[in-house]
Amino acid sequence: GPYFPAVERYDNMIYRRCGRSGIDLPAISLGLWHNFGHSDDFKNSRTILRRAFDLGINHFDLANNYGPPYGSAEENFGRIFDKDFTPYRDELIISSKAGWDMWPGPYGNYGSRKYLIASLDQSLKRMGLEYVDIFYHHRPDPKTPLEETMGALDQIVRQGKALYVGISQYSAEDTEKAAKILKELGTPCLIHQPRYSMMDRWVEDGLLDVLEDRGIGAIAFSPLEQGVLTDKYLKGFPEDSRAVKDGRYLQAGAITEELLDKVKQLNGLAQKRGQSLAQMAIAWLLKDRRITSVLVGVSRPSQLDDNVKCLDNLEFSQTERSEIMTILNG
Ligand code: NDP
Repeated sequence: GPYFPAVERYDNMIYRRCGRSGIDLPAISLGLWHNFGHSDDFKNSRTILRRAFDLGINHFDLANNYGPPYGSAEENFGRIFDKDFTPYRDELIISSKAGWDMWPGPYGNYGSRKYLIASLDQSLKRMGLEYVDIFYHHRPDPKTPLEETMGALDQIVRQGKALYVGISQYSAEDTEKAAKILKELGTPCLIHQPRYSMMDRWVEDGLLDVLEDRGIGAIAFSPLEQGVLTDKYLKGFPEDSRAVKDGRYLQAGAITEELLDKVKQLNGLAQKRGQSLAQMAIAWLLKDRRITSVLVGVSRPSQLDDNVKCLDNLEFSQTERSEIMTILNG
């Protein structure tokens, strides 16, 4: 049936300012990397997006190659957007990216102007949108001059195809350089999208300082280590889990006894805080004000309900902090 979003959708979500910009983002955003491809259940994808928006999650993150097959998450998002979200376009922040392999030949990968401009045109067509709110270069490309890649991002904004631009997985050093070029071009870098979780803390080693200094926001991807930082693998390997049913990026073999032992200890600590482990893992990132938003994926709407409840407790006592660090470093 027709979708009428919850009237109280903005009442409980927390919105944080993205660096030194004019944009607030929800503390929790939704990524469409998994569960929105042609091999996934369209009805479920649609229910997830509706639930997200009802919860005040008004930022949806895509990329040219999300699926499978590549492009299909954008296509399905476009179908759902057309049916359910057209009246709410101005309430949404929709992002896409280019930087990984997308189409054959020399112009469908990495960081050339040729690739970025063509890829965003394709993404807009698939999604049925006139513009995206944020367009990212998806990963650093050491073989293309940064001036060309950043120049392409600036051109895209001037063409009206994106309102803001960002970069993903750039090192602290490359972020400094990219931010400087973008600033000179007159298109400031809005946001950086790094991998960041309790178990992958590389951003703490310089990147977050650069972002703060330059006024760039941060949105953390894979905050739950693709599901490992939840209680789901503590009692075996569920048939419908990513590690079992997908296995492209999260292999069951990588979830070792040693890893599960840490997860179990973290889960115990989360319970003492009155939180699920998923909630604690997200709260752990949000305790740093430099993290604008935490970008989760979900395979069902109930996981969204679970995750947003983290907002009830974002504080960590000194004891909790040191207990957690002992487990993580153990
Ligand atoms: P997460 O670490 O949040 O993992 C998501 C998975 O965790 C879900 O599919 C689900 O797995 C499980 N999960 C989520 N919530 C719960 C819960 N409450 N209880 C139990 N299990 C839960 O993030 P992703 O790895 O999916 O990445 C999130 C987004 O980040 C992507 O969609 C994408 O937008 C972005 N991203 C960006 C990248 C980049 O290079 N810039 C790279 C990777 C991701 P299950 O299916 O087992 O139920």
